[in-house]
Order: sequence, then C-alpha cells, then structure tokens
Amino acid sequence: MMLLYSIIKRQRSTMFSRRHWLHFLTTIPGIGALAAPMAGAAQRVAARDYFKTLGVKPFINAAGTYTALTSSTMPPEVRQAWLYAADHYVHLTKLQDAVGARLAQLLGAEAAMVTSGAAGALTVGTAGVLTGTDPEKIRRLPQLDGMKRVVLTQKSHRFGYDHAVRSTGVRVHEIETVSELEDAVGTDTAMMLFFNDANDRGQIKDEEWVRLGRKHGIPTFNDCAADVPPVENLTKYVKMGFDLVTFSGGKGLMGPQSAGVLMGRKDLIEAARLNTSPFSDTISRGMKVNKEEMLAMLVAVESYLKRDHAADLREWNRRCEEIASAARQVKSVESEVFLPPIANHVPHLGLQWDASVVKISPLEVKAQLAEGDPAIEACPLTSKDRLVFGVWMMQPGDAAKVAQRVRDILRKAAA
Ligand SMILES: *Cc1c(COP(=O)(O)O)cnc(C)c1O
Repeated sequence: MMLLYSIIKRQRSTMFSRRHWLHFLTTIPGIGALAAPMAGAAQRVAARDYFKTLGVKPFINAAGTYTALTSSTMPPEVRQAWLYAADHYVHLTKLQDAVGARLAQLLGAEAAMVTSGAAGALTVGTAGVLTGTDPEKIRRLPQLDGMKRVVLTQKSHRFGYDHAVRSTGVRVHEIETVSELEDAVGTDTAMMLFFNDANDRGQIKDEEWVRLGRKHGIPTFNDCAADVPPVENLTKYVKMGFDLVTFSGGKGLMGPQSAGVLMGRKDLIEAARLNTSPFSDTISRGMKVNKEEMLAMLVAVESYLKRDHAADLREWNRRCEEIASAARQVKSVESEVFLPPIANHVPHLGLQWDASVVKISPLEVKAQLAEGDPAIEACPLTSKDRLVFGVWMMQPGDAAKVAQRVRDILRKAAA
C-alpha cells in the first residue's frame, strides 16, 4: 500500500491534472483504504460488501446446481488453491500438462484436461475428434472441408447442450435403434454422442453404445455433467470404454463454476488441447481456462474423492426432514423425499397441500421465499402442484431458516 501511495504521489506531481487525478483515484479498487491508517487498510478491503454495494442480493440456495443461481460454492481448500494460483505466474501449458496428468491418474483415464465447464468440454472434445493434431484442420474449424462431419446420437438423447457439439460445424443425426445406427454409420461419421442422464430413455444403453462405437471405430463421447454423486461415476464411464467423458466442475464436484473436466483417450485429449487457449487461431480460444480454474479444479477433484459421501447423504436427508417437519405442522401439508435417478442424484424435498385448506399456490410460495429476507431460491417448478427444494448446496444453518420461512408462509395462508 505504501508503494502504491508513493507511486500515485509521484504520478500526481508529474503527469496528472487535478481532474485526471481525481478520476484516477476512483478507478483504483479499494482506494478508500488509502484515507485510513495503513494497518487497517487490508482489513477494510477484505470487509467490503461487494454484492451489497452493487445492489445484488445473495440468497440461500435451496434449489441446487443451477448455473443461473451460480450453482455451488467452493470448499475452503479449493478457494485456497484458487488464491494460491492467483498469486503466481506459471507457463500455462506446463500447468495443463501437470494438472491433466494428475487428474488422469486420479480418475483412471489415459489423459485429462480442465475445460471451461462441461459445455466447453463438449466443444473442445468434438473439435479434437474432428481435427486430430492437424494444424490446418484446427485453423479451418468450423469449416469441415476434408473432415468427417456427422455426429450420431439417439433421438431421446438430444438436449440443449448439443449446441456445444454443433458449434464445431458438425450435423447431429438422430437414430433410435441399433439397426438404424448400423445403417447410418458411414465414412462421414465423426463421433457418437451419449447423454448419460438419458440412459434409461434411449433404446441403446451405455455399454452397447460403447460396443457399437468400438465395432465401427468411431469415438464415443459421454456427457455426465451433472452425474456425481455417486463418486464412482467419475471413473465408471472411462472404464466402461467411452473415449471421452466430461463432468461439470461446478456442480457436484464443487470446483470452480467456470471449469469442467474432460478425460479419455490420450490422442483425443492432446488434439482437444490444441483446439483451445492458449492457441489463438482455434475454435475454442474463447473458452479460455486460466491457472486458477486449473489448480482449483484439480483440488476440487482430490477433495471430492476423499469426502465422506455417506455423511453428506445423511446431512442432506436431515435437511429435507428439518424443512418437511416444519411444513407438516400446517394442516394438509404432505412431504416426500425423492432421488432423481441419474443427474442430481441427491435427496430433494417435495411439498404438497390441499389448496382449499392452504390457500396459496406453490408458485406464490416460491415467489414469497425469493422476495423475503434472507431471500431463498427453491427449485424451478416442474408441476404447478408441488414445491421442490434441493438441499445439497445449502450452507450450514440454511435449512433451519428455510424451514421456518416455509412454515410461516404456509401457516399464514391456512389461517
Ligand atoms: C450442466 C450441464 C452441462 C454444462 O455444464 P457446465 O459445466 O455448466 O458447462 C452440460 N451438459 C449437461 C447434461 C449438464 O447438466
């Protein structure tokens, strides 16, 4: 701070008019601290309530890992890694090499890399499949002259995130049965895309998808973005034989929200890396990942592998029960704890009531929770008759606050 102060003083005397000087002062973050005794400066900066200053209101996340709600918060050891990385310069590709090698070792994959989220992984992974290590092809994307240009997927596996695959220029071709797939496979087939959460919906299941890919020599890519827990899933699909697998970094793994993991075949990861930052003339240059995400993502995976997952489950069930038992104090309210089968496979709480007894809709309760103090975000409604909470991203003490508010709102509507 002393140094900054003397630099400013020097600049003031040499190069700034008074007006410019004032403008300069206001552009320096934390400059208010300069007016204070030096010893207090660091504390003052740390205590700044950024969101409040901006008029942006934080809330209790009683929904889950929704990107628009900023998904998850990083555990202390992950934040520590982030801050450590922020303090040092390194050669980015050397860090990528080292982090990738360690991730691969932890996850039982040939190779791995940190991406800009699972969606970023879908793009860089597909790009790698299309171009290999050919610099000409890498530069040419999304023009696919001289490259394979079709990605096969099951009709029931189409999802919004396949835009991240299509952005490489490929066309997605839908099939439903094995024989349709066999008919569709051709010299133009680049990749076979699988949406893990849709496993039960498609006619061709994960293992058979891998077998068919192998049979025809076509790389298979499994999007498992939201599919931990269980922790075993982190290694399951590479072991099963998928050539590429991605997980979101900022969902169940609680790493940086702007990161993800892509793992799989060594040649494909190498090619994927050539299609993104720090290389400028690439399709994924805009999906930049810096040292902070890389290191924090690695530490998040290490930390997640070591977690007491049984204790997490007990705590999530306890939170559900705490909210449910408070809500059930209101006449006609019924609760149900349910477990989505693959993605977000964690206990969720559903609340329902007799609308003629408790005269408020779930949508209105959700709105009142969001507007209250503290603000509380419940899950987006999937049925107009049921209010749902995802409790796994809450912080200690949150469940008690949610329980009380839900009970109060319902009780008032029942009076
Ligand atoms: C969340 C999600 C993504 C995107 O993950 P990001 O890490 O936010 O990029 C991709 N695919 C599926 C199935 C998801 O659920």
